[in-house]
Amino acid sequence: MSSVFANVTLAGLVKDGTYMETLHKVQRLPHLNVFEQYWAAWYAYIGNDILATGLLFFLLHEFMYFGRSLPWFIIDQIPYFRKYKIQPTKIPSAKEQWHCLKSVLLSHFLVEAVPIWTFHPLCERLGIKVQVPFPSWQRMGLEITLFFILEDMWHYWAHRLFHYGVFYKYIHKQHHRYAAPFGLTAEYAHPAEALSLGFGTVGMPIFYVLYTGDLHLVTLCLWISLRLFQAVDSHSGYDFPWSLNKFLPFWAGAEHHDLHHHYFIGNYASSFRWWDFCLDTEAGPEAKAAREERMRLQAERSAKKRV
Ligand SMILES: [Zn+2]
Ligand SMILES: [Zn+2]
Repeated sequence: MSSVFANVTLAGLVKDGTYMETLHKVQRLPHLNVFEQYWAAWYAYIGNDILATGLLFFLLHEFMYFGRSLPWFIIDQIPYFRKYKIQPTKIPSAKEQWHCLKSVLLSHFLVEAVPIWTFHPLCERLGIKVQVPFPSWQRMGLEITLFFILEDMWHYWAHRLFHYGVFYKYIHKQHHRYAAPFGLTAEYAHPAEALSLGFGTVGMPIFYVLYTGDLHLVTLCLWISLRLFQAVDSHSGYDFPWSLNKFLPFWAGAEHHDLHHHYFIGNYASSFRWWDFCLDTEAGPEAKAAREERMRLQAERSAKKRV
């Protein structure tokens, strides 16, 4: 029996032969908006919350990841967009894309399938709710903003660690196979990397609910969808005049992460620029020249003090 309604017997009463028939019955219930109706019908129709959450997260991941990678694949085939490509001479070949697609699919089914299927029992233990109605949009917005900030912090440090010696050689090197990334390469990584960097996406909301005791699963769904969009877009290889980083200067975007793939060093954060800026780990020749100039001025100043 699903716990999607406060009254547990209600899920059994609205369940019908098909999803659409269940949805029609749910639509007759008062005080539910259209998103809540689709959500409640999904849980009521499946009738098993472990299966409903597992299937929902698996489908959400596949749909968002490949759905977001497809427009970038199409853009790569259209010469008009070449002027916006950050490394314009490096267009991914069909062979490279095919290799990447096979590897990502294998990793999704083998590595990520297990955590996805065990996710609902974990949610229940932590107190992550599936029940309708949803929290307010304002609350979801604030929680998602916080997750973006926390994930970025985790990503910065874990990614920086992955660039040291054995961590790079045996784990992170796989992700750097493509010096000019394309959308699909966002999750092209060693399983150990997928799990440890992925912890930033799932672990931060877990810490949040451990602290507050209150989080809705739909907020997690929205957060994971937006995080997938961010990850795929940052690997797209394109920087448009209308890209988000042109309006929000602290947003990393593709330009930031493309430089990381190009130079293998610097720009370790995922969503924002502040960690790399504050800790002086920005990538690229301009950042390197500015760093060297700062070091030269500092050396001059300390030499003067000694005189
Ligand atoms: Zn890296
Ligand atoms: Zn990358």
